[in-house]
Amino acid sequence: MTEPASVQDTAATPVPRRHRVVIIGSGFGGLFAAQHLEKADVDVTLIAKTGHHLFQPLLYQVATGILSVGEIAPPTRLILRDQENASVVLGDVNKIDVTDKRVHATAGHIAFDLEYDSLIVAAGANQSYFGNDHFERWAPGMKTVDDALELRSRILGCFEQAEVIDDEEERRRLLTFIIVGAGPTGVEMAGQVAELAQHTLKDSFRRIDPASARVILLDAAPAVLPPFGNKLGNAARARLEKMGVEIQLNAMVTDVDYHGIEVKDPDGSVRRIDASCKIWSAGVQASPLGKMLAEQTDAEIDRAGRVLVNKDLSLPGHSEIFVVGDMMSLDNLPGVAQVAIQGGKYAAKQIINEVEKGKSPAQRPPFKYFDKGSMATVSRYSAVVKMGRIEISGFIAWVMWLIVHLAYLIGFKNRVTTMFSWGMHMGGDHRSQLTSTKQWVYARQAIERVAADEAAAVRTAEEARRNGTSAESDASADTAGRNTESVR
Ligand SMILES: Cc1cc2nc3c(=O)[nH]c(=O)nc-3n(C[C@H](O)[C@H](O)[C@H](O)COP(=O)(O)OP(=O)(O)OC[C@H]3O[C@@H](n4cnc5c(N)ncnc54)[C@H](O)[C@@H]3O)c2cc1C
Repeated sequence: MTEPASVQDTAATPVPRRHRVVIIGSGFGGLFAAQHLEKADVDVTLIAKTGHHLFQPLLYQVATGILSVGEIAPPTRLILRDQENASVVLGDVNKIDVTDKRVHATAGHIAFDLEYDSLIVAAGANQSYFGNDHFERWAPGMKTVDDALELRSRILGCFEQAEVIDDEEERRRLLTFIIVGAGPTGVEMAGQVAELAQHTLKDSFRRIDPASARVILLDAAPAVLPPFGNKLGNAARARLEKMGVEIQLNAMVTDVDYHGIEVKDPDGSVRRIDASCKIWSAGVQASPLGKMLAEQTDAEIDRAGRVLVNKDLSLPGHSEIFVVGDMMSLDNLPGVAQVAIQGGKYAAKQIINEVEKGKSPAQRPPFKYFDKGSMATVSRYSAVVKMGRIEISGFIAWVMWLIVHLAYLIGFKNRVTTMFSWGMHMGGDHRSQLTSTKQWVYARQAIERVAADEAAAVRTAEEARRNGTSAESDASADTAGRNTESVR
């Protein structure tokens, strides 16, 4: 990382080097691709803007105090420690230059780039507010560790504030929790917030009864868990209603603010629900890197920003670039972990075939997805599982859910501690991760403000330098300007 690219390029004798594979993303697609290349005669660089591999399906358990962050987000660097051909780089990719075959990124104010021979892009998806980005401030989504910690602190903070407030109306608002989106994440969150209120927090407050909390699961669609079909959707709905969760379907959120949400019903009438804690799990938008790739190639993107890939997951005219996981659009495959895992492994296999066996991209077989089924938990001891035509709900489904999730957690130690945490939770609804801080509630918004201020300061300083005027020296702008390095 010390020598700029131009200096290395002027070396007289070209040094033979191995095929360079750059992987963007340490999620399911990126990590499994990297691991699949372990024995390959290639150099792998995995770059991601987070230093961990996040097991997103269990984020809701961090948000509701069952699991710790470490159990579901081990450091990628340690996972790949023994894989000698792999390097892990922390960096936010801001540009992919498909002509130069270069990925540009920043780590703080340090800008650097990575050259590739093959590129696997697995940068996932973000929450989508369907064009209403201002909703995010009041209704955070759940995509990252930060989101889960913020939500945990928001949820617990509402109970704390309700305990000390005298105004009855405000207390009701504080004890109303709205989850927007009745897909798997929404169902899991609604079930857990209800259990937290009714069991875990029972008898721990003196002025309020946590069980009086109102938990509302709301969706513009007419069904709960639509991808699971009517039977399982109805089973999940019945279980949630038994736990006291209010289900409101065909209800379109038209506004979100500090006080609550505005909802439009099918008859066109608009109503408000006052609630302090709003949680958004209603839609996803693929990483903006997809659009950037489409703009430089003949690829198209769909409405969710996903890249329409070839049958071999590559981009039109660029057989060296694979897009996998939540960022890719192919044959209506869903945005689930197995699609990303299988896509990552498939891309790695094609690279091995070409680098080691001399095959050409034209010989690639089309990517075939093997559907292993889907599952979602509804509450303790209750889940729904769909595997082909087999549909199971209740306790057996929950046991299957437990086994599958344990099997896919990364690392033996994490599996053991997770089993222990689950054991505590099952045998008495004990949650050992109920720490919450004010910082977790406000950090996201504060960081966004600071980052915007800093970016503005950098722009001003750069402009002043270009114009030759003496602007107030800005240390961060200076650092950004000087630290441009190349990583090979
Ligand atoms: C709350 C929740 C629950 C879920 N539950 C389930 C479930 O029960 N079953 C299931 O099968 N699926 C579930 N999913 C979906 C599943 O997690 C995703 O389909 C899967 O994670 C997609 O993998 P991916 O590799 O494409 O992206 P991700 O796992 O999202 O990884 C994206 C990676 O890219 C990195 N990245 C993004 N942008 C940049 C950038 N500009 N520069 C550098 N790095 C970048 C991120 O840091 C991250 O490492 C759930 C998702 C969520 C959010």
